[in-house]
Order: sequence, then C-alpha cells, then structure tokens
Amino acid sequence: MNGSASSGGTQVVVLGAGVIGTCVALELRARGHAVRVLAKDDPEHTVSAVAGAIWYPFLAEPRQRVLAWSAATFRRLRAFAAVPGSGVHMQRVIEVFAAPAPEPWWASAVERVERVPVSELPAGAADAFVTEVPVCDVPVHLPWLRARALAAGVTFERRTVRSLGEAAALGPAVVNCTGLGAAALCDDSSLVPVRGQVVVVTPPPAAPALAAWIEDAALQPFYAIPRGGEVVLGGTAQPGNANELVDPVDTRAILAGIGARLPSLRGAALRAVKVGLRPYRPTVRLETEPHRGSTIVHCYGHGGSGYTLAWGCAEEVAMSLAR
Ligand SMILES: Cc1cc2nc3c(=O)[nH]c(=O)nc-3n(C[C@H](O)[C@H](O)[C@H](O)COP(=O)(O)OP(=O)(O)OC[C@H]3O[C@@H](n4cnc5c(N)ncnc54)[C@H](O)[C@@H]3O)c2cc1C
Repeated sequence: MNGSASSGGTQVVVLGAGVIGTCVALELRARGHAVRVLAKDDPEHTVSAVAGAIWYPFLAEPRQRVLAWSAATFRRLRAFAAVPGSGVHMQRVIEVFAAPAPEPWWASAVERVERVPVSELPAGAADAFVTEVPVCDVPVHLPWLRARALAAGVTFERRTVRSLGEAAALGPAVVNCTGLGAAALCDDSSLVPVRGQVVVVTPPPAAPALAAWIEDAALQPFYAIPRGGEVVLGGTAQPGNANELVDPVDTRAILAGIGARLPSLRGAALRAVKVGLRPYRPTVRLETEPHRGSTIVHCYGHGGSGYTLAWGCAEEVAMSLAR
C-alpha cells in the first residue's frame, strides 16, 4: 500500500463518526497512521448517540468473533473506567430470565459471573446472573473519545460518500464504518434496521443506588442502565422498522416495565425519549475488499453491540491494514 503519512504510517480515510468510526480512527492514529474522518451527520445525530450504552453482547453475530471482540473491548473500557472524565464506569448488573438458563455464552469475556441463589431471585424470575461490566455515559463518553482523537491529530469533516468508487478515490486505504449507511453505500440488502426506543429518567432524589437490570427477551427486552445521575430504560428491538419517531405506545410499555421490578424508580422524572436504528446484519461485516486500487476495510453491522465490540473491531481493522 502506498500513500505514506509523515508519521510513517499510511494515510487512512475513515467513513463514519459513530462509536465504531471514532474508535477505529483512534486506534489507527495510535498505530502511526494519518487519519481523516468523513461523516454524513453530526455526532449527536448518530445511532451511537442513542445507546444505553452497557457492555453486553446483543443482536450481533457470529458468536466466536463477537466473543473475541467483546473481550478486547471489555479490557479497554475497564481501563477507561479508571480515567477521570471518560464517562465510563464499572456497573453491577443482574441478568434475569423467566426460564432456567445456562451461564451466559459471553461469560469468559468478563471477570466473573455468579448465578443468583434461588432464595435470592427477583420475584417471577426462574434464573438470574450477577456480574460487573462497563457502562458508557454516552453524552460524556462520545465527546471524550472525539476530543482524544482531535488532540491526537485526527481530522473530522462533514461529507457524504455516495459510492465505493468515490470512497476508493479518497486514498489508498479507506475504512467503512458507516453503520446503517452501508446498506446504500455497499448495496448490502442484508443490513437492516432494528428499531430501538429508550426512555431516560432521573430517579427520585432519595432513591438508593441501582444495579443495572437486563431481562433477556429477543423482541421486547427490558433493561435499566444507571449512568451519570440518570437511568436509561428500554427497550424495543423491532426488525425492519425504520421509524425514527418516538412511539408513545413503546414509551408506555417501557415505563410499565419498571412496575414491581424496580420500585425505587417509581416516581422517576422523565428526561428524554430517544429512538435509534440498530445496524443489524446476520454477521458483522469486518473484511477487506480491494476496490479500484484502494484497500477498503468494511466494519459495519454491529447491531445492538456497537459499544461492546468497538475496540476489538478497531484492533482487527488496524491489523488488517498492517498486512
Ligand atoms: C436504543 C438503542 C440502545 C442501544 N444500546 C446499546 C448498548 O447498551 N450497548 C451496546 O453495545 N450497543 C447498544 N446499541 C447499539 C449501538 O448503538 C450501535 O451498535 C452503534 O451505535 C453502531 O455504531 P456505528 O458507528 O456503526 O453507527 P452510527 O452510530 O450510526 O454511525 C454511523 C456513521 O456513519 C456516517 N455515515 C453513514 N452513511 C455515510 C455515508 N454515506 N458517507 C459518510 N458518512 C456516512 C454517519 O453520519 C455516522 O457518523 C443500542 C442501540 C440502540 C438504538
């Protein structure tokens, strides 16, 4: 690959400035590449701005690669949790099941997972597991990542790239982190939106500290993620639904989920309701495609796990450009 950067690495153009593009840009810069990021939208108008965002592999395949990327990302985020201002903290979380369940398939990626004794199960649960995972306070964490990238010399521009030919003409190495935008850019009909809606609340003043709560159900998961003085409640997972407007029916269903599960949140003040379209693909696409003299590395389709996979994927992208 030609196009040497003054730092000794390659000139790389990254398409997309969501969590994936930003982490890829940081990783490439850390390895000596000169990095230019082009993105269609402002950062606050990405799916990444809507997420919870808890470390939790959800709606992303294939499992073996997802496990490796998740484990790598866990280590990065755990280190960030010790950095003031990163917006990342380690969070106790309980995962609840309505039927007896095996240990989570991703257990080897975290430090410890404990099965909750029958006598301590939440009402109505047949099984539950407790662990500790990173949570990203997105309104703090995404700007923090971007500020680090800017300080390291990464440049950001607003620009829509409309074809792979246009992408290839941008330079010898291009990384495609366009999320759902890749459906049009790559003519990839396997990439579909899975709509998610969240309700952000402020707990009542005297409410005790909350463990995060995840109830695993494919289409109507219920979760509560405490972060930075607020709690993100979800959620919905509606395949093929591209409606970016708030649906009051979903809002009511999410708030009803608090019910008997989280009594300390009764009376919480509603702060915001947000909608995002998860970029879901039967498998995350992380692969290299030579195109008109340029090396294009595709890195999209992270479904419900962008924050859970970002650093593991960024490392693999960097390795594929080093070959
Ligand atoms: C309600 C909800 C809750 C979630 N909760 C979690 C969670 O708890 N944990 C977790 O890990 N994940 C969670 N996710 C999933 C996570 O948000 C996504 O997987 C992640 O944000 C995808 O990141 P991305 O960078 O690929 O996409 P995006 O954030 O969508 O970024 C795509 C970027 O590409 C740019 N772009 C698109 N097309 C073009 C183009 N043609 N030219 C140039 N630029 C382009 C866009 O402008 C944008 O900058 C959640 C998602 C939702 C909706």
